[in-house]
Amino acid sequence: MREKLLALVALQKVDMEIAALNKSAGEYPKQIAELEQLLGAARSATEAERAKLTDLDRQKATMEQTIIEEKDKVKKWEARLTEQRSTREYSALAREIDIAKKTNLTMAEDLIELGKAQATQRTAFQAKEAEFLGRARELGEKMGALRTKLAAVEAEVKGIGGRREEAARKVDPGLIKRYEHIKKKKLPAMVAVVAPGTCNGCRMNVPAQMYNTLRTTLGYDLCPSCQRIIHAAEALEG
Ligand SMILES: [Zn+2]
Repeated sequence: MREKLLALVALQKVDMEIAALNKSAGEYPKQIAELEQLLGAARSATEAERAKLTDLDRQKATMEQTIIEEKDKVKKWEARLTEQRSTREYSALAREIDIAKKTNLTMAEDLIELGKAQATQRTAFQAKEAEFLGRARELGEKMGALRTKLAAVEAEVKGIGGRREEAARKVDPGLIKRYEHIKKKKLPAMVAVVAPGTCNGCRMNVPAQMYNTLRTTLGYDLCPSCQRIIHAAEALEG
């Protein structure tokens, strides 16, 4: 009986290892996804700065174009000024020209301000981009390390299959059937009952009669509380 239980103990040890490996294999993709999210956020922040810069570039180009057009207009008006016959028409056009020139001056000042804002924004964008590139490299390295670990764990899970098969072959067919059934819900599926009759799986006491029987037969039973396979702690002692 002791050999039967020891064979199951060995199998359970392999299963616990597999469970731990599967847990890591499940954790790594989550960690990788979290890093990808951080990288995405950093990229968005950089893109936002770039968009502000592009907007200023566009505003400045539009204003430059408007200034050229307005200056052209003034030139044409000034040429027309000499053709004016009546004083009233002459002074009306001269006033228009005056207003247009003032507007052009204001726009020229605005253009200077836009140029300054553009330079400031270019610096801000370049700083953000440099920061992003550094962050991307750092996150990339972390993700690479996690992917390597994940691949190693997956390879280990594959490799452990043979060991499990070998351990499973040594377990009594009746016992393994019960074990596999419990294992689907609980691991460890087999636990010891320790004095004064406490199940190591659920920490509940088994009936005194059951505990006595386990200790005298050194066999196994099922815990009435958690349904795990139970044996007296003494059953494994040689
Ligand atoms: Zn129990």
